Amino acid sequence: MLVSKGDPEAVYTEVETIGKGAFGLVCMAVETATREEVAIKKISLLQESGSELCLNEIQVMRGNKHANLVSYVDSYLLDEQLWLVMEYLDGGSLHDVIRETCLAEGEIAAVSRECLQGLDFLHSKQVIHRDVKSHNILLSLDGSVKLADFGLAAELSAEQNKRRSAVGTTYWMAPEIFTRKLYGPKVDIWSFGIVAIEMVEGAPPYWNETSRTVQELISSGGRPKLQKPRQQSAWLRDFLHCCLERDEDRRWSAQELLQHPFVTSAKPTSDLTPLIMAIQQFMGNRRY
Ligand code: ATP
Repeated sequence: MLVSKGDPEAVYTEVETIGKGAFGLVCMAVETATREEVAIKKISLLQESGSELCLNEIQVMRGNKHANLVSYVDSYLLDEQLWLVMEYLDGGSLHDVIRETCLAEGEIAAVSRECLQGLDFLHSKQVIHRDVKSHNILLSLDGSVKLADFGLAAELSAEQNKRRSAVGTTYWMAPEIFTRKLYGPKVDIWSFGIVAIEMVEGAPPYWNETSRTVQELISSGGRPKLQKPRQQSAWLRDFLHCCLERDEDRRWSAQELLQHPFVTSAKPTSDLTPLIMAIQQFMGNRRY
């Protein structure tokens, strides 16, 4: 009931493979009739966990449309594959950018504002993303910044307004997940605080440690810090402090962080275009 009938190979012309996830490939294609570019995630149904994540992703994307979330276009079953068709973002991921260069504070603030707008929307709809990290933030050459990869997202309800399962990617996971407490949408804010450190330093805190060590450090009261805090403004340091507050109740919400002076002083997203173009050129032009 979730997927459309029909043959997607008749609707889309595949152009190239652009990514590889844990459970399948992502390719860039054009809708043959309109020439509109799309990204298609193809997951084998033979991999039970992969198809479960993909079905969850389809459900979450269909129900949540926002300018800062990658949009759902369609989905199909073809042979033993599930196809998720979504809007194509032509600027790569924030991870690609961070790997090549450190961002200026105005750029970090602009990316933060866009991601927090997406998170504020998801949280207002009672959805927790649960895998916020630079790999899952996609960019367009026009400067758009969008959250992607909703496979691990959880939809809360009146009956179940908290979760306990330990999911996510270790380096970005909030303390309340490691300590197996009930948790809510604020886990995404902690993860975004880690993304902000990635934007400053090029990698998340404790990147050279094993995931087991990171789990022990965070569970036992550790609080990730900048390596050279004095090189950053007081506003950026305070912003990180508000995101990486260990106490979930005192950690700021996405809505509150959107009013933080570090975020309200952000540049327009169009100012990100030269940076994204430079990284794309450096990485080799991926467009056909
Ligand atoms: P995992 O499946 O392990 O979480 P992942 O997040 O990298 O890994 P995908 O969401 O499957 O997996 O995406 C793989 C890559 O494909 C992304 O890193 C990105 O480079 C590219 N990609 C995914 N969706 C799009 C999109 N809508 N537009 C452009 N590129 C995309």
